[in-house]
Amino acid sequence: MPTHQPTTAHRFTPFGTTIFSEMTALANKHKAVNLSQGFPDFDGPTIGKAAAIKAINAGNNQYAPMPGVPILREAIADWASRITSITVNPDTEITVTSGCTEAIAATMLGLINPGDEVIIFEPYYDSYRACLAMADAKAVFVTLHPTQDGFAYNPSELASAFSDNTKAILINTPHNPTGTVLTHAQLREIAALCIKHDVIAISDEVYERLVYPGNTHSSIASLPNMQERTVVLSSSGKSFSLTGWKVGWAIAPSDLTAGIRSAHQFLTFSVPTPLQFGVAELLTNGEEEIDKLLTHYTHTRSLLGEALDELGFGVKLPQGSYFIMAEHQQITERLGLKTDIDLCRWLPTNAGVAAIPPSAFYHDPVQGAPFVRFAFCKQTKTIDEAIARLRQALK
Ligand code: GLN
Repeated sequence: MPTHQPTTAHRFTPFGTTIFSEMTALANKHKAVNLSQGFPDFDGPTIGKAAAIKAINAGNNQYAPMPGVPILREAIADWASRITSITVNPDTEITVTSGCTEAIAATMLGLINPGDEVIIFEPYYDSYRACLAMADAKAVFVTLHPTQDGFAYNPSELASAFSDNTKAILINTPHNPTGTVLTHAQLREIAALCIKHDVIAISDEVYERLVYPGNTHSSIASLPNMQERTVVLSSSGKSFSLTGWKVGWAIAPSDLTAGIRSAHQFLTFSVPTPLQFGVAELLTNGEEEIDKLLTHYTHTRSLLGEALDELGFGVKLPQGSYFIMAEHQQITERLGLKTDIDLCRWLPTNAGVAAIPPSAFYHDPVQGAPFVRFAFCKQTKTIDEAIARLRQALK
């Protein structure tokens, strides 16, 4: 018998276990095809792995410098000038973190004061809210509403979310889970509000390279007068199929970087040294690998999207990311179910496929109830198997 009081701190009790761990556990239990947690079921590029192994064998096995190994920070600065269209100083404006998830935490803890308001779009990646709770900040929500061809915020709802207490706005483009890529006009609108209210833009761009034909990713940091107030967060996990390496980064002007590093040094201090060498190699010489990956995801995106559409899900193909957020009403009505949670519990047991219930990504779960999120960052044969199982179960 435990003799102590329940010990989880109050700040975490609203969040429970992350939906990603929960659904992957359910998938494993039922031997379901796991289209829930977003991770590739294939390996990352050989050149990256070879560079990490070489670094291990060369004895690069002690603590890395707190902000990251210089060769990686230089590679990130070069990537930022090519991909993000900004010029950054690798010594004072880049911090290497344990995945983008730590970059989000270090940014919140390092820059946000208790009571500050931070605007986030919902549906949101679940760690945003937990990190705001750790920082004792107040989340202010702006909904991405379903539209004719995707999801979009309402400009007047966005404008009225800003107040005298707003410290930052957290944007995520391409967006998880809806696949929305913010247009240049939307970024300009957000930037104008940031400047007007003297607010920091925190831009999670982890899916920056997973953008499908007809769409273009731009960083808000590249807009006039924005780099000085923007933190760009990204990682190697999605662009190079190495989610388990957990190598991410935060790019910010030196005054903001100082705050981010204040938190990073006490959260993790530094990130595994040899993996940083591996990522430096990929950022520098990995463009061909990204091209191949994008061709593959363009294929699995249409394969899964068309099959879901045919089965009666409401599908708008994502503009970016590796997720499809589909409406399920027609299916759930037929099955005598209601919410996304009902469906995501039903699917692994009855169809042998796992997906994510998006209500976990809204402060009011009702808003997420009509949707289900499927990940297509899988081998073609995995997607084929998932489709065959869904057809069998839903016919
Ligand atoms: N970003 C991934 C997703 O949305 C998973 C992240 C995680 O497992 N914490 O599926």
